Amino acid sequence: MFSSGQVEDLGEKSRKRYNFKNFFGVSRNAALAKTDIEQRLLNMNTAGDTRWPHIIAHADMDAFYASVEQLDNPELRGKPVLVGPRSQRGVVLTASYEARPFGCGSAMSIAEAMRRCPHAVIVPPRFERYTKVSARIMRVFDNFSPRVEPLSLDEAFIDMSGAEDLFGPPAAMGRRIKDAVREATGLNVTIGLASTKHVAKIASALHKPDGLTVVEHAETRAWLAPLAVKRIWGVGPKMEARLHALGLKTIGDLARSDPRTLALQLGQHGTHLHDLANGRDPQQVESSRREWSIGSERTLEQDVSTPEQIEVHLRRAADRVSARLRNKRLHARGVRVKLKTTSFQLHSRQARLDPATELGEVLFRASRNLAAQMIRFGPFRLVGLAAFDLAAVEADTQLDLFAEPPRQNRLETTLDKLNSRFGRDTLKRARDLERNGTVMGTAPTLDFRSSLPPDEEPASDRSLEGEDPGWD
Ligand SMILES: [Mg+2]
Repeated sequence: MFSSGQVEDLGEKSRKRYNFKNFFGVSRNAALAKTDIEQRLLNMNTAGDTRWPHIIAHADMDAFYASVEQLDNPELRGKPVLVGPRSQRGVVLTASYEARPFGCGSAMSIAEAMRRCPHAVIVPPRFERYTKVSARIMRVFDNFSPRVEPLSLDEAFIDMSGAEDLFGPPAAMGRRIKDAVREATGLNVTIGLASTKHVAKIASALHKPDGLTVVEHAETRAWLAPLAVKRIWGVGPKMEARLHALGLKTIGDLARSDPRTLALQLGQHGTHLHDLANGRDPQQVESSRREWSIGSERTLEQDVSTPEQIEVHLRRAADRVSARLRNKRLHARGVRVKLKTTSFQLHSRQARLDPATELGEVLFRASRNLAAQMIRFGPFRLVGLAAFDLAAVEADTQLDLFAEPPRQNRLETTLDKLNSRFGRDTLKRARDLERNGTVMGTAPTLDFRSSLPPDEEPASDRSLEGEDPGWD
């Protein structure tokens, strides 16, 4: 173990770089605790020339919502738990590991999950609680690095570059982060460590739950080679099929393929995939990550098919998204509508907004036109709206300030204030009330944010439901 005297011996630079705080019982000494073996590994590592150019950890909580429910309610421990609405129409947000051997997983309908595992316990989600636990986890990560990039409530990149002197080699870093999260929250986290973000993300996904996977920098390409191409971040079922058609099944196949042919077949995306397959990923961990989209969607109690029925849901989603944009002082240059048919086919349309806006009324009007283009595919079981291409309001609105009627802006700001003071949806517009046989229902609205640019979001069911909210 390090004594505090030894800790003080660390250079002034290291101490400045790592801002230790006493969060939730994770003391500076606990974070620095080392076993003798780890200390010897550390000495070997720093003596030789085995340092990685970057050390990136990807941390992903195991079955996050379900694990929080099992933590808070001991009666649920060891049992299959499905977090989701108590409605046959709803979808599973997270299945506990006890439910997974039965084939239950996130984004599956509750009805299907209950058919596969009839004795599962359904627990309605408590997002406020998850948000609180998430904040605690992120503060633990902050103890390890000043550069933490959250991807969702339960997932983050942590840039550990240059921290070997404090925490030891990558494997020791991973163990220490896992211990600190468990100590602070009682929950398990899976960690992948690699020299790039992309490989760290793949590594954490390979061994869950409670996993720790370290990919040595020098072995990156060899480690990636046998993995299926769908393991690459951003390769959805459609891209997977295109790669298979080119005879590329593994990441190794992709890495060895001719980049010029790939570029001809797949455009810029082909070059990007070739780079990733070869372990090249210049992306840095960004502490203040730009959000690409903010959205809201809901699986409905009753299918909708008429424009009027769909508009009720678009209006509500537009207002929620608008309130969140205002709250973050962002405005959007694009809006996208997503409709899922009763046969689970996803349709989406998007439009540019000029000037950029955060007004619910403008988002609603644009979304109504987009929905009209898809009405023939109905009936629908899910309606979603997202604002994308977001920018800070201060950046470019001076001239647009009066482009929208100020009255509209004041009305929406007042609605925000009342709703945040007295609870969400306190004040609804008269037209939000149930009408035309459209039942708002009790399924929770999934408000999500995404950091993937729209062009890189594969248009597949899996990615829209799995990647966007990061529910698992
Ligand atoms: Mg997770």
